[in-house]
Formats: sequence, structure tokens, C-alpha cells
Amino acid sequence: KEEKEVIQKPSILGSLEQELHKRMLDDRIREMFYLVHSKAIENSTKTLIENQMISLMGLSAKLEKLEGSEDERIKERSKITERIMKSIEKLQNPESCKNANTLVCNLDKECGFGCQLHHVTYCAITAFATKRMMILKRDGSSWKYSSRGWTSVFEPISKCTFDEAVGNTESKPFADPSPARVVSLGIVDSLLTKPAFLPQAVPEQFLETLHSLHSHPPAFFVGTFISYLMRFNAETKEKLEAALKAIPFDQGPVVGLQIRRTDKVGTEAAFHALKEYMEWTEIWFKVEEKRLGKALERKVFIASDDPTVVPEAQKDYPNYKVYGSTEIAKTAQLNNRYTDASLMGVITDIYILSKVDYLVCTFSSQVCRMGYELRQPSGSDDGSKFHSLDDIYYFGGQQAHEVVAIEDHVAQNNQEIDLKVGDKVGIAGNHWNGYSKGTNRRTYKEGVFPSYKVVNDWRRFNFEALLD
Ligand code: GDP
Repeated sequence: KEEKEVIQKPSILGSLEQELHKRMLDDRIREMFYLVHSKAIENSTKTLIENQMISLMGLSAKLEKLEGSEDERIKERSKITERIMKSIEKLQNPESCKNANTLVCNLDKECGFGCQLHHVTYCAITAFATKRMMILKRDGSSWKYSSRGWTSVFEPISKCTFDEAVGNTESKPFADPSPARVVSLGIVDSLLTKPAFLPQAVPEQFLETLHSLHSHPPAFFVGTFISYLMRFNAETKEKLEAALKAIPFDQGPVVGLQIRRTDKVGTEAAFHALKEYMEWTEIWFKVEEKRLGKALERKVFIASDDPTVVPEAQKDYPNYKVYGSTEIAKTAQLNNRYTDASLMGVITDIYILSKVDYLVCTFSSQVCRMGYELRQPSGSDDGSKFHSLDDIYYFGGQQAHEVVAIEDHVAQNNQEIDLKVGDKVGIAGNHWNGYSKGTNRRTYKEGVFPSYKVVNDWRRFNFEALLD
């Protein structure tokens, strides 16, 4: 029998314990910064504490990249990415199209690009978990965003066409397991029970390795599927490369801002002023200056559906070089959406957001979350290189995200909840003031608690389609 190749941690990296604790330390410093930053403290004292914390964050960031260790992590992570990609490719390109177990995904979810792509990602993960090939209904030829369909911008997701794989075969509603060769998947919102493979589950095959290599394994896993789906065709690739070239990434770091406004504000998210985004951008630049020990030119890339934001940034932040397209923002508004220009615009924005050095946005927006997801498998550990002004990372329809208490906590007021070491807490959000909100599974009480007293407890699932 052939020897299985085991993914081993290279010696330059610390043990799992070392890596986890280094990351926890970084996380704890950041949580303390949020706490201090949110407090009404006398100005000079606050500045003094914040500057010390920025210095600490710089040191912590330096530690992460010391002696080429980040390059080593990138190398190791890319082996995992490759393994997942190869496994997806194998399922997607079976020997016989007409005999392959198939899951049909409909590209007609009534929502924006991020939401539609997340639906296709949900289909892809479901197909992968149940060892089926995923086929887009009628190959995605009818798509609200483009009269030319899926392949107007992306590569086909399989060598098999809808006609070859499905044809006249009647598809049965998705069930797991199901004896039907062809099943069709509805939208995630319609699920009565949530399958164990839903995000943010991580393959148990490499959860431990990934834990030591990346700060957010589930986003890394989801990101690999999005990378597979968003394999751009030659025409799109060319346009994206040109858009990327217009931003001088080779001349120091660029922070990416995604500012979701217009139809989202007041319906699904609150308004956030440009200065809130810029505040966190400036903090990141200061931390990075500490890490590198030199001054940095300020550069931001802004993606938005609000055409007033780029001119506002150019006017109000003269010390910043501001990149971003007002024309794209115009095509992003509801009355101009669902056109080829709007599609290319949102893809361009997401692609650039996946390449910036740091991301500031609202995770309530699927555009921002896609940018975040797409950055995970490709380069540095970007799991923690963001600041969200609202939600923590989530995947729509996900399994409950749970954390586990590593310190006891006694509620200090009626808004807070008690924690005992080992308690599981279903997390609702981070208030970015040192506190998070959740429901203690032991006491059933919901309330806030200091974020530093818990760690993520990622779910694991045996994805049998993963090749060795
Ligand atoms: P959400 O509503 O922000 O959660 O994200 P969706 O992707 O579901 O829908 C919003 C749609 O608005 C996107 O698909 C885009 O068409 C457009 N849009 C929103 N924000 C941006 C942006 O920053 N850039 C571009 N180009 N389009 C955007």
C-alpha cells in the first residue's frame, strides 16, 4: 500500500501550543486596545496607553513574521489549499458525466452578487461534503447579473455540462443521504435542520495543522471554495490585472476599505461615516510602522456603492493617496445593478480587496466578507488582518458559532453573564469594546462577557472527498 503523505509542520515554526499562544497573545492585546479605545478616559492618559498598545501590537506582528516564519506558514498553507483544490477538481470532473452523482445549484437567488456567490459556495460545500459533482442549473446561462451567464466572467465549474450530467433526469430535492443520482439544492434559508458540514465546520483531517498555521481556519476553508468558483476567464483576468496595476502595491502597504451604503443602510446595517473607517486605517498604519521601524506612506483603496466616498476621502484626507473608482460605485447602486458593468465592478472591487494588506469594512456586507474570504487561501495569514465596524465573520445560514470559556467570569451587572471554564457560549457578536455577546449553553443566559475570556471552538467534520 502506498505511504500517505502526511502534512508536517516545518521546524522553523513553533509547536501547535506555541503558535496558538502567540496568536492568543495578539488577540488579547487587540481586545484590550478595543476596551481602552472605547472608554472615556482623560485624553493625555488615553493617548499614552493607546500608543503603548500600538507599540505592543507592532511587536506582536513582528513576532509573527520573525525569521521568515510567515513565509514558511504560507508555504504550508498552500499545500493544504492545493489538496482541497485537487479534491474539488476531482469531484467536479468525473470520468462519466452522465453517471456521476450530481447536485444541481440554481443561480437565481434573488439578491446581490455576494449573496448569490455565497449561495453557490453553499452548494459547492454541500456537494463536496456529500461527494457529488455540483452543476449550475442550465450551466448558469440565465443570470440576473449577465445576459451571457456565468462564463461571461468565470471558467466553467466542471467539464460536464448540465445537459450531459442532468439532461432529462428528474432531480430530487436534496437529502443526505439520498439514493437519487441527481439532487437539487434549495437556498440555505429553507433548511429545517442544519447539516454538520455547514460553515464554519473545518475538515477534521487537518483542523489541527490549520490551527497552527492560520488564525481563522473556517474562513480559510470557505475561501478555498470561493477561489475555486471565482476562477476568472481570460478576458476577466486581463481586466483585473489592469485594475490591480493601477494601484502601486509594490510601493508599500495599501489598506482596503469597503463602504456599504445606499440600499443597505437602515434596512440591514447602520450608517458608518468615512472617519470611522479611516480611524482604524490610521491605527493599522501606526502598528505597521512600529513593526517595520520606519514611516509609511498612507494609501487606501476604497470600494463602495456610494460614489461620494472616494471624492470625500480625497478632499478630507490630503495625507492619504486614495484609490477607487467613482464610476464603479455608480454601477453598484440598486438602480444600476444587475448589468455586465456592475458585475465587472463588483468582481474588480472584491478582487482588489482580496489583495490589500489590511481590510476595514462592515462584515454585515457580503461584498466585504467575500473579499475577506478570498484573501485567506492565497497569501499571508489574513484571518486577523481586518477591522469590522459591525459583525464578526459569519457565513449566512451557518451552524451556531461557539466559543469556549478559558477563564471564569462573574457578571458585574445585569447585562453580563457568568462563565465557568469549559462553558460553551453561542456567540452573537463582538461589541469591539472588549466585550462580546452570547448565550451560555450551560445556563441558557444571554448577555455580554469580556472577549478575552473565551477562545473559538471550531466544529469539525469528516470531509471524505478530501484526497490524501
Ligand atoms: P450586501 O447586500 O452588501 O450584503 O451584498 P450583496 O452582494 O448581497 O449585494 C450588494 C450588491 O451591491 C453587490 O452585489 C454589488 O452589486 C453592489 N455593491 C455593494 N457594495 C459594493 C462595492 O463596494 N463595490 C461594488 N462594485 N459593488 C457593490
